[in-house]
Amino acid sequence: MKKIYTLLTPLWEEMEQDGDSLVSGRIPALDVSIQAEIVAEKEEIIFAVNEVTIFKPFTKTEKEISISDEEGMVPYHKESIQEGYIKSGKYIADRKTIGTVVISYRLLLEPAGRNPVFDLGWERGGMTGSGMTFMPSFQEGTYEYTMNWNVSHLPEGGKGVWSFGEGKITRTGNEGLLKTTFYTAGQLDCVKFGKFGYYWLDNEAILPLAVTASQIFAYESRFFKDEGESYNIFSRHTAAAEQRAGGTALTRSYMYLYKDKEQLDPSWIKFLFAHEIVHNWIKMKNEPFGTNTWYIEGMAEYYSALLPWRMGIITKEELVKELNKRAVQYYENPRIACTDMEAGGNLMSDSEMTRIPYGRGFFYLMHADGMIRKATHGKHTLDDVMQRLLEEEKNNPDTGNDEWFREYGAYITEELARMEYDNFSNGKEVIPDVSCFEGAVSMVKTTGKQRETDKPCVLWRFV
Ligand SMILES: [Zn+2]
Repeated sequence: MKKIYTLLTPLWEEMEQDGDSLVSGRIPALDVSIQAEIVAEKEEIIFAVNEVTIFKPFTKTEKEISISDEEGMVPYHKESIQEGYIKSGKYIADRKTIGTVVISYRLLLEPAGRNPVFDLGWERGGMTGSGMTFMPSFQEGTYEYTMNWNVSHLPEGGKGVWSFGEGKITRTGNEGLLKTTFYTAGQLDCVKFGKFGYYWLDNEAILPLAVTASQIFAYESRFFKDEGESYNIFSRHTAAAEQRAGGTALTRSYMYLYKDKEQLDPSWIKFLFAHEIVHNWIKMKNEPFGTNTWYIEGMAEYYSALLPWRMGIITKEELVKELNKRAVQYYENPRIACTDMEAGGNLMSDSEMTRIPYGRGFFYLMHADGMIRKATHGKHTLDDVMQRLLEEEKNNPDTGNDEWFREYGAYITEELARMEYDNFSNGKEVIPDVSCFEGAVSMVKTTGKQRETDKPCVLWRFV
């Protein structure tokens, strides 16, 4: 297997003490040096970077990216093309490369930006970001990656962490692994529990949240039969105007983003982390984009309400409050009648529409669980269908709606499963069912007011 060795060297700059900050510096620049066992013929692509990811540009470099090999500098030219949400910059060799290719550049960081956390940015105590805006991807294939950090410029105790853990890490992955992962460095605090880690900079209030997150990970990884892989959560503090806290999920990791202390609400964060951690296991092919968002996000919503309840880490009041928040988001949504494909096509450009598959999937899966319980007199639940699809997806990455119709249809008939899907995916509103909470919650039909239009609409409330 071809090897890719990366060394990251964060630089350090002292800052004046400010407010209740615990640290006194930041990472203004990062040196990247990659030794890659790759070969490019003349006129072939050596590697590609994202010049723009959605709306986030590639991190500023001090000079042009330098490419060399055993023969010295490799002359190259660049070509840019738009590929969906990404503007890709291809680095094309003007001669054949000989031996190990060395790619190196110095990045000059901007302040840590808003969601999605694709930019590499500095914040008090260090830096956070994803490889989307500063790392290359290679020709299609599987590679053995080694990540290493030179922390000699950082204050004592300073460290560097990749999505898969801290310090020197080796693991295999596809051509884009350096891009689709998170990086953080500096004066990091952390909570570690087995293969789980939570890393953050300069904020004592995060400690209890990190402990809760580790409990959620331990529970969910048992429930979804995890095979013992690492999972890490990072936190970014941004000064950017961000209306609400949120985050971004990438391979086996999540970056939580907050601006103000109020955005560290422990109750809300339990549901958020429970949702994001579910994404480690619940997968489904989603092409064209939007086809299976209802399942991917709906399952994350479903288990992020149900598992913390089963764990006993949320009160009934917290659960009901969360269910009602989700009900208002979905039933009063002015785009409630949009199709799944419309929602998929308007990702990021229409936030109301983007949220539809979450609520639709969530309330529909609550309904599906009720149907399964009724059909089997309580012997089976949605857990059984989910577990079978989970197993199937491991062997067949094309697992999608047809497999859902088959497995769910085994309880209610495939015909009915397909009919329900045709209805909700074309915008018919979903009627929930609270059987999954086994008597703890009940629901009532009320009248709400649709956002934007102020028209009366059905609003299910939970008590
Ligand atoms: Zn999600």
